[in-house]
Amino acid sequence: MRILEEGRNWNDWVLQVECKNTNYSGCGALLEVNIADITHTKGSRYNYGWGCYENAHFYSFICPCCGSKKYIDEKKIPDQVKEIIKKR
Ligand SMILES: [Zn+2]
Repeated sequence: MRILEEGRNWNDWVLQVECKNTNYSGCGALLEVNIADITHTKGSRYNYGWGCYENAHFYSFICPCCGSKKYIDEKKIPDQVKEIIKKR
């Protein structure tokens, strides 16, 4: 087969994040997380639009500066990266 355009290697994906979120206070450190840093968990989340609990995926990492757990907005993680993280 002839490769017309090479696909991206999503294992190289990184994201710049700040240590802060809405649920917990953070130390404000600016960090670069990669796929290995992110933990995937499943849980329930209240859906305000539907007024019920829905299954949700959570992506979190531990800040190396303050040791607290931070959640990453899942919209910032490409689907290809989510698939890699979920399969681990
Ligand atoms: Zn921190």
